[in-house]
Amino acid sequence: MDCLFCKIIEREIPADIVYEDDDVLAFNDINPQAPTHMLIVPKQHIATLNDIEEGDLALVGRLQFTAAKLAEEKGFAEEGYRVVMNCNDQGGQTVFHIHMHLMGGRRFTWPAG
Ligand code: C5P
Repeated sequence: MDCLFCKIIEREIPADIVYEDDDVLAFNDINPQAPTHMLIVPKQHIATLNDIEEGDLALVGRLQFTAAKLAEEKGFAEEGYRVVMNCNDQGGQTVFHIHMHLMGGRRFTWPAG
């Protein structure tokens, strides 16, 4: 499958991996938008948020759970952080393997751009 994040999961292309378990992988974003900017991805290929099925709900919950744990580890859980999941073209999605952006270490504004 020609998927960038599947290739990172399979170690076919390099990434700065910060966390891995049986279900998810997290790595530092190559183009960080905050002092900490990580991507948390399921090892299972799911192209967009629209493709999540009933059986994937625990896996998707694990993305959020992992984000919170990493925020705690990085030391910004209490002060706050942002998680973002973009969907399709108008939502700003550029890699079609779902991923949660975890950004911390600065103040974020609302609404998001
Ligand atoms: O939500 P979106 O699909 O736009 O996010 C994709 C993210 O993947 C971008 O933040 C981009 O910097 C990141 N990326 C990466 N490593 C790559 C290619 C893209 O961290 N090799």
